[in-house]
Amino acid sequence: MNSVSAEPGISEPYLLGFLTSVGLDVEYTRAEGNTLFFRGDDGEEVPVLDAAGGYGSLIFGHNHPELVARARRLLDEGAPVNAQFSRNSCAQEVAALLSGIVRRETGSSEAYAAIFANSGAEAIEAAVKHAELDRVLQVQALVAELAEHTAAARAAVEAGEAVLPAGGHEDFEALVEEVSRANAEVGARPPVFLTLEGSFHGKLVGSVQLTHNAAYRTPFTALANRARFVPLDRPGAVGEIIAEESAALRDIVVRDGVVTVVERPFPLVAAFLLEPIQGEGGIVPLTREFATAVRRECDAAGIPVVIDEIQSGMGRTGAFLASSLIGLRGDYYVLAKSLGGGLAKTSAMLVRSGRYRNEFELVHSSTFAKDGFSTPIALKVLEMLEADGGRAYGLARERGARLAEALEGVRADFPDVVKEVRGKGLMLGLEFHDQSESSSEVVRDGARSGLLGYTLSGYLLREHRVRTFPTASAGNTLRFAPSIHLTDGEIERLADALRAVASVLRDQDEKRLTGG
Ligand code: PMP
Repeated sequence: MNSVSAEPGISEPYLLGFLTSVGLDVEYTRAEGNTLFFRGDDGEEVPVLDAAGGYGSLIFGHNHPELVARARRLLDEGAPVNAQFSRNSCAQEVAALLSGIVRRETGSSEAYAAIFANSGAEAIEAAVKHAELDRVLQVQALVAELAEHTAAARAAVEAGEAVLPAGGHEDFEALVEEVSRANAEVGARPPVFLTLEGSFHGKLVGSVQLTHNAAYRTPFTALANRARFVPLDRPGAVGEIIAEESAALRDIVVRDGVVTVVERPFPLVAAFLLEPIQGEGGIVPLTREFATAVRRECDAAGIPVVIDEIQSGMGRTGAFLASSLIGLRGDYYVLAKSLGGGLAKTSAMLVRSGRYRNEFELVHSSTFAKDGFSTPIALKVLEMLEADGGRAYGLARERGARLAEALEGVRADFPDVVKEVRGKGLMLGLEFHDQSESSSEVVRDGARSGLLGYTLSGYLLREHRVRTFPTASAGNTLRFAPSIHLTDGEIERLADALRAVASVLRDQDEKRLTGG
C-alpha cells in the first residue's frame, strides 16, 4: 500500500496565504479567559488579548473552569454522545430554560418549542425550512377551503339557489376554469424571504441568500429562493415592500344568491428575518422605531418574524435577547455561538407554540444535533447566565459600558480617524473614517479593496498582542466581543492599542503599519 504523506497547506491554502500576508497566521496553543497564547521563537508563551472573543462565542471566555469541569465529567463518566433518536432530558431542560427566559424577557404568554442544530447558519436554515413548511401547510389548507367553497357554489347553482352575475361567464364551469388558472399561477410562485440591507444570516446554501453581502451571495443565487432586502434607514419601506410582495387567491362563494369571486390573501412571504444588532454588517443596532414597524406590518400580513440572535443573544448585550431591549418580539429566535460555552458546537431555533408545526420534526434532523455532549454544556451555560439573579447579564451591561466609554475616549482623541463607536453591552464596534483617499498607498489600496481592516488587525496583533477583526461585510469597523470577565486592565490595553492604530492612520505611517 502506498503511504500517504502529510501534505502541508491543503486546507484553505489561499486563506492561509492571506493571513500570512497581513500577519495574522499565528497558531495559538492555549487559551484562557480573554487570552490566547502562542509560542514565540524562543519557545516562551506569548499572551494575546482576544477582543474578538471567538467571533462572539465566548461569553464566559476561553475554557471557563466550570464549563471545562462539566465537559471533563461528561467524558470521564462515559456519557453517551451520539445517541440520536432517544430521550435526552438535558435537551428538554435546555429547551424549557430557553423558552422560560424568552417568555420572561418578552412577556410572551406562549411557550417556545426548540429545534437543535450544530451551527448558526444551520439553525437559520432550520428556521427557514420551518417557516416554509408552515407556509406550504397554510396554502394547502387555503386551497382545500377554496375547493369546498367552489363545490358548495356549484351545488347551489345546480339546485337553482344561486345564479351567476349578469354579464359574466357563460356557465359556472367556465368561471371555475378561469379562477383555477389564475390561482395556479399564484400558487406556483416561489416564497419570498424578507431581510435587511446589511444583514448576515450565514453562508449555507439557503442562508447565504439572506446575507446581504453580494460577494458571499451572488455566485449562489441560482441555488436558493430569492430574498428581498429592506433598507434599514426607512421604517416606511417595511410596509411598502410587504405590499409589493402580496398576492391573492380567488375564492368562489355565494353572496345573497349570487356567485361571487372574492380575494383571499395568499402567503407569499414566508418570513422576515433580522438581527436586532447587525453584527457582520458593522455592529449596527436596529432602532425601536424600525422594530415596531416590522412587528406591526408583519402582524398585519401574518408574516412570522425570525430574530437572529446568533451574535447578539446569550446575554452579550446585557439581556438574554438583544431584541428584548428594543421591545421586539419574535415568532422565532435563533441562538448559537455562546450556547456551546466555547467547547461544543450547538445552536437552537425556537418557534412560538402558536406557529409551531409538529410535522417539522419528521422532516428535519441531523446526526449530531442535540447530542449528549453539547446539550449538557448548553445547560450549564444557561445555568451560569441565570445564576445569582442574572449577575452575568449585569456584568455584560457594566463591562460593556466601561469598554464603550474607553472606545469613546479613543474616538474623542482621534475624531479625524475614528468615525463612530456603536453597539450594546459587549457587542461593540469602532468604525474608522474611509481611507480610500489616503496619501499612503498601502492604506489607500487596503481601503479600496475592503481589506484595510485586516491590515489594522495584523498591526494590532504584531505590535500590541491584541486580537480583533473587521466585521465581515463592513471592513472599516473593528469588532469587540470579549467575555463578561473583561478586566479594567484589559480594557486599558485595548484602548492603548487602538490609540496606537489611530495614530498610525492619522500619520498615514505605512511603515509602522506593516512593520516594514
Ligand atoms: N447569523 C449571525 C447574526 C451571525 O453573526 C453568524 C456568524 N457570524 C451567523 C448567522 C452564522 O453562524 P455560523 O458561523 O455558526 O454558521
